[in-house]
Amino acid sequence: MGSEKRLAKLATYEDLFERMLDAGLLLDKDQFTVLDANEACEGVLGFSRDALIGKKLETFLSPSSCVSLLKELRVSRRRYHPRRFDTLWLGSDSKERTMEIAACSLRLQPGEGQPAEVLQVLIKDVTRERSAERDAEKYLSDLQIANQKLEKLSTTDEMTQLANYRHFRSELEKEHERSFRYGTPYALIFVDIDHFKKLNDTHGHKAGDEVLRQVAMVLRTQCRNTDLPARYGGEEFVVLCAGVPWHGSLILAERIRKGIEAIQTPYGSTQPLGKVTASFGVAGFPDHAPSVNEVLECADEALYEAKSEGRNQIHTASPKLKARASGE
Ligand code: GH3
Ligand code: MG
Ligand code: MG
Repeated sequence: MGSEKRLAKLATYEDLFERMLDAGLLLDKDQFTVLDANEACEGVLGFSRDALIGKKLETFLSPSSCVSLLKELRVSRRRYHPRRFDTLWLGSDSKERTMEIAACSLRLQPGEGQPAEVLQVLIKDVTRERSAERDAEKYLSDLQIANQKLEKLSTTDEMTQLANYRHFRSELEKEHERSFRYGTPYALIFVDIDHFKKLNDTHGHKAGDEVLRQVAMVLRTQCRNTDLPARYGGEEFVVLCAGVPWHGSLILAERIRKGIEAIQTPYGSTQPLGKVTASFGVAGFPDHAPSVNEVLECADEALYEAKSEGRNQIHTASPKLKARASGE
């Protein structure tokens, strides 16, 4: 700054105080009595300068909003930099408003009969801004909830609440990429309900839907968090076992097979095997095939074998001719 006089010094405090658009009060630091008030007070607080001067601040506030404001002011009177806080301002007109307050101690030029310091309180009505902010926050959180619902809808099969084919396919591709890069395995278990057409024909489509939901429940309860059970389409399901070699997934396949056999339903006894059953085809990367589509083909071929060998059983794929694993 050197010895130059700051331009700000040329303007008097009074100029600033009077031209301010926010309400400005100078309070006595002990009792918070209004010593001076600017013209904006009338518009912001609804009280003229004359009505304010000489009265304690709490006179203009309801007791409930007064308590927290006085508490804040007691902290602010020890500071020389403005402290900013919002306060709920319930004026004597009983209208609730949100005020943003900036308060700090102000040293005065020495003068006769006046205190050495006062509390400067600047008050801005931010009711509309805060309400708009709250609306925006609510809107955003509603939007996030709606998006989450939408996301769930787009990845879930409505009838069984399992992952749908599209979601399964995209997760499988991600898992394949990961496995290819880090040299880890994954397994696929294909599950196809046996003689399901017969169940539909005998008991109707609604009964079939009920059984589909029961099978889905078995898949959900038997799988771990890291497995992804999905509805592949119709009465076919698939489980993606991430990070698991095909032989490890056989344990899960057997648990699911037993779980399906144990489904309690009046529609099981008329099925050719005397109960609801399913056949299973298991294949894994990298042991059976090097690409996503070939692993899927392997699992499908194994499932076909399980069907032709009598159903209600698990078959494992035979390895495709050893080709180089690919990342696609
Ligand atoms: P397999 O043991 O060889 O698998 O015989 P399947 O009868 O189970 O197989 P097929 O492919 O001949 O028939 C599948 C049946 O699944 C036919 C179809 O109507 C039924 N289906 C597919 N989707 C649904 C569905 O959402 N609800 C019901 N109730 N039935 C379905
Ligand atoms: Mg079937
Ligand atoms: Mg089928």
